[in-house]
Amino acid sequence: MMDDFKPAFNRFLQMLGKPFRLKAVFFDMDGVLFNSMPQHAEAWIKVFRENGLDLPEFEPYLNEGSTALYTVKKMYRKYLGQEVTVELTEKIREQKHSEMALLPEPEVMEPMPALLAEIKKSGIDCWVVTGSAQEVLLQRIEKEYGKILEREKTVSGLDVHHGKPHPEPYLKALQKSGYKASESMVVENAPLGVQSAKAAGLFTIALNTGPLDPQILKDAGADVVFSGAKEFADKWPELSGILAADCLNGGRKSS
Ligand code: CA
Repeated sequence: MMDDFKPAFNRFLQMLGKPFRLKAVFFDMDGVLFNSMPQHAEAWIKVFRENGLDLPEFEPYLNEGSTALYTVKKMYRKYLGQEVTVELTEKIREQKHSEMALLPEPEVMEPMPALLAEIKKSGIDCWVVTGSAQEVLLQRIEKEYGKILEREKTVSGLDVHHGKPHPEPYLKALQKSGYKASESMVVENAPLGVQSAKAAGLFTIALNTGPLDPQILKDAGADVVFSGAKEFADKWPELSGILAADCLNGGRKSS
């Protein structure tokens, strides 16, 4: 993976066409900071089954990050060749919401808290960019990552009109944080999230924390794909070194 990293970063630098200096990392939430995708997937599969649609287990992971309304519409088209009514869409959305509330709280994605603390300690700012508007999870960020991630350093579903894969969430993150594409990078786990980050012009690392073929994340545009949070954390010291070294090659002046 590290063999891929350097060329991938160099390709990004060439495309960027200016010196890079990492000042901030934008972290996705579901599937990156919390291991919440198994719950989402379980809820989706159960609720669709109750409505006469048997989804393959990987399907919720392909749609991760999109709105419930978009997911329902897409699944009915893809698997039944039908347009779904507004009423049924709304019913399924509510069922999914109720189902989620019954499932246990998602666990923190290890070892992300320790990694974020390390990243922050090295002077790099950490932000959260999520399509979620679930108040419960947003509050859990405060509980589990409270010392690292300040509440105002969040872009949530409440801040945007268009969800991922639209670039708006990451463009909003750039605008709200004041950082540029030459100063930040993204950590995502889902194809639609990767598409959103790349459409906003950002260097994007994908952590394949679910069951998808890593090629799906590559095809979505990820600059680099790691097998999961642990591999990313293990490689971070080396990786941050490459980021720093290539910044200098890019002609950065020390400040
Ligand atoms: Ca995600």
